[in-house]
Amino acid sequence: VVAMALNLELLRKDYLEAISHQIVEEFWVPDFGENTVRILPPKDGERFYREVGVHYRLVGSGMEFCPRVCRDLSCPICEVVDELKKMKTSVAVQIVSRLAVVTRFLMNVIPIKEDAEKDIRQYLSPKSVWLGLLKIILDPEYGDITDLHTGRNVVIEKIQATGGFVNYSVRPKLRQTSVKEILGRDLKLEDIPDLDDVINRKLKGYDELKVILYGSEEDLGMDVLMERYSKPQTKEKEEVSEDKKELLSVEHVLEATPKKGQSELERMIAIANEIVKQLKGTNQ
Ligand SMILES: [Zn+2]
Repeated sequence: VVAMALNLELLRKDYLEAISHQIVEEFWVPDFGENTVRILPPKDGERFYREVGVHYRLVGSGMEFCPRVCRDLSCPICEVVDELKKMKTSVAVQIVSRLAVVTRFLMNVIPIKEDAEKDIRQYLSPKSVWLGLLKIILDPEYGDITDLHTGRNVVIEKIQATGGFVNYSVRPKLRQTSVKEILGRDLKLEDIPDLDDVINRKLKGYDELKVILYGSEEDLGMDVLMERYSKPQTKEKEEVSEDKKELLSVEHVLEATPKKGQSELERMIAIANEIVKQLKGTNQ
């Protein structure tokens, strides 16, 4: 009897596809074109968003919330960016653009896609979408579009602009729709996730972020850091890579893993372990 060898390449493809979906699913990312969503109201009746800072392109972990912007605490990544800004070399400028904190607005949304399951997700909206939403809400013709009963769905259009940049536009639907109509069940205010809890769960401490930044427990200094972050990551410009950051983090794992003499299966296991580690890290 001849033993049938497993097609590892095929398994690896399936595995990575499944994993990349799993990672991407942490935050909702709009598709190119029109995306209909419902923005959910805050529990306390105050703001329906939290302004957060995000470091998007860290080697290994992909994205992390910035403790300086989110909680007014020290951030090792921002500290390095501050240092690099003084240096003014082209490599320094390149790394600053990669590591500098990006402002985002965290909100609860229900993406509405025909035939797809409708559930509450968290969205890290760029400033343009956030401003567009505020403008709609402040327009007396529309008012509080987040209201569970009398609110409106909005269309977020994501457009690929020239030079790899991404533009967004936001408009409200004319018809008022209840969230019950969207979900097919009642949604109570207290069932909407608390945005501060979402931040606290994801936000890592100073030392933990430093380990992610350097890829080591030791303080390796600026030279090693520059070497680590000066390699070109992607041809895409900021906005695009931001939306694909979770996928990029899978690529980082792939890049980092191969070692001499490692079999394909060992490599797969190493990738799996690395990803499990990442997922554990992000679920804290
Ligand atoms: Zn920071």
